[in-house]
Parts: sequence; structure tokens; C-alpha cells
Amino acid sequence: MTHLTLQAVTKRFNAAYAVDHVDLAVPDGKLVCFLGPSGCGKTTLLRIIAGLETATSGTVAFAGRDLTHVPANQRDFGMVFQSLALFPHMTVAQNIAYPLRLRRVAKHAQAARVAELLDLIQLPHMADRPVSRLSGGQRQRVAIARAIASSPKLLLLDEPLSALDAKLREAMQVEIRLLQQRLGITTIMVTHDQREAMTMADEIVVMEKGRIAQVGKPLDIYRNPVSEFVADFIGLGNILPVTLDGTDRIGLPGGQRIVVDSAPRATGATGASGDVRLLIRPEDVSMRAVMANPGPNVLAGKVAFIRDVGSSLEATIDCAGFTLTAATTPRETPDLRIGMPIFAELPPHACKLIAARTAH
Ligand code: ATP
Repeated sequence: MTHLTLQAVTKRFNAAYAVDHVDLAVPDGKLVCFLGPSGCGKTTLLRIIAGLETATSGTVAFAGRDLTHVPANQRDFGMVFQSLALFPHMTVAQNIAYPLRLRRVAKHAQAARVAELLDLIQLPHMADRPVSRLSGGQRQRVAIARAIASSPKLLLLDEPLSALDAKLREAMQVEIRLLQQRLGITTIMVTHDQREAMTMADEIVVMEKGRIAQVGKPLDIYRNPVSEFVADFIGLGNILPVTLDGTDRIGLPGGQRIVVDSAPRATGATGASGDVRLLIRPEDVSMRAVMANPGPNVLAGKVAFIRDVGSSLEATIDCAGFTLTAATTPRETPDLRIGMPIFAELPPHACKLIAARTAH
């Protein structure tokens, strides 16, 4: 077993907890994303794993070895920062060879490894080019090649794509993911972009105020978030206050009562109405202009807004007392117009009851 284990890792800056009792096991060969809003402690946790920051308490172990007090340069982990930190006066090959030079690897072995890595990142003819003359995406690849040059057991990426424009960023997400899978290198990546995490990760660690809010596979978290915070952070969702009466029916803000399959989850929801929210994802809300026998989970409303971007269509529906967003494709709903009456169906299996966000 070579996986990374964190136990009760805590970091305080004066009285404030940046990381608060984090327990985590990162499986071998997987890509794990730390995801959360600005200031939730992602980077601090990554820096503790890297050895660039010392935990106030708790332990970091890798492959069964306690690393808590081992300095960064003896951890043998590769790291790519947001800034990339390439050496601008050096060539591509010199940048990639840098960690090998530090380790006093023989010159011919350095050259062979650099050639291998240049092939891997698909820049075989760029060895002698100064990094200052590379595009953003090429620089990104060189930074990754340098981070993995000495075959580290763990690769740590801190928002490595945040400086790139949207299109290149999406392309690099796929590229890094494919490279990571090909090498089978255990990787932890920090991001605040949920789409990036959903695209790349085997597992997502959602963080909130220094703590882990939820850990799981991307789709599991999307489908079954444990709380309003996680539901709101991962993807779009309709999140509504509800009233409960102990039956399988819940009351919506407009007074309508609908049937749900899920029981209030144990995670913090005590069952009192104020603690619970209804989550239904936009793609689970189906819209019909005409309905002969509306069932119990059908709400009558009016189309208030349409966002049609060609590949997808989102409609905001005004129901009495609240609004719902429904997502579909323009092909499936060609005749939607603002102001038209519409029926919105909320299938019971897609209605999730989740713990409300706590105010602290
Ligand atoms: P971002 O996405 O904005 O980088 P983050 O989730 O990575 O945020 P951290 O950078 O880990 O968050 O910061 C967590 C908390 O710790 C923040 O409140 C931050 O202000 C605080 N913090 C981080 N580094 C220090 C420091 N060196 N001294 C004091 N407070 C710090």
C-alpha cells in the first residue's frame, strides 16, 4: 500500500482554523480534487501534504511512513503551482531536467529522461526553445513534465489551469487527466471550479470552512449531496425550503404538496422543517405545455425566462410562491415562449431532501 493518509490534520493561523481535523485516505493511482470556495483551506491542506506548511496537529503518512515532520525536499512529491514557477531564462529541456540535476542524475540519463518526457507531453521538437517563447498550454505541459521528471509517487497540482482561457483550460483538463491515467500517478489537484473537478477527478473532496463536507465520486456527489452547501456548490440545482409532516409528502413554499422517495438524510437534518431543503436538479424537471391528468407532482406555472444557448436550454418557471429552473435541449422543447403557461413535473425519485446550510 502506497497511499496517502491524513489523520486529524489541523492548521491554525493564530486563532483561525484554516484546516480543521481533516481525515482522508487518497487511494493509489487515483486523481483526487480538493474542491471548495475561496478560503475553505484547499491550498493550505495541499501545502501541508507537500511539506511546505507545518500542521498545527495531526499526521500525514505516505506508504505507511509518517511524513509529518519530513521536509518538503525529502518527500519526493512533484508539484505544479498556479504560477507554474518555470525558470524563464532556461530552455524547455533545462527546465524539465532541473529536478534531475538537483538529484545529480548522470548527464546521459538526464538527456534520455528529458527526451522521453518531451514525447510524453507532445513537444518533441521544443527542447531548446526558451520557455518565455511558449504558449500558455505549452508552458503548462512543461511544468507538468518537470514535476514528474524524477518519477514522484505523488503529484500535487494547485490550480494549475487557472491562468488559461476557458477553451484551452478544458483541453488541458482532458490532457492532464489522460496523462495521469497513462502514468497511473496518484494526483491531488486543488480547484474551485466544480466543472473541472467533475471532468478530471476519480474522487472529489468538497471542503467547507476548513472541514471536509463530503468525499465521493463526482456523480455520486452530484446525485446525492449530503447538504445544501454541497448541492449548491456542485452543479445547478433548485433548492427549496419545505415543510414536513412525517409522511412521504412535503409542502413547497407555494403550499403545494408533493411526494418524495427519499427520507431526510441523517447528516445534520433532524427532521424539523427548518433543517431540511428539497433539491431537484434542472434536468430532472420535465416541462409540458399540455397535460391531461396532472399527477400529484405536477406544478402549474409560467415561463419567466429562457436561456437557449443552442446545445442546451434552460427555462425559469414561475410557480406560485417560488421559481424553478428546468434544463432540456432546444430540440426537445421547440415551442417554449416567455409568459406561456407550463406544467413542471418533479419525479419523486429525483426529489432529494438534504440538510439545510447552517449559519455559522
Ligand atoms: P483560494 O481558493 O482562495 O486559494 P483556499 O481554499 O485555497 O482559497 P487557503 O489559501 O488554504 O484557502 O486559506 C484558508 C484560510 O487560511 C483563509 O482564511 C486564509 O486567509 C487563511 N490563511 C492561509 N494562509 C495564511 C497565512 N500564511 N497566514 C494567515 N492566514 C492564512
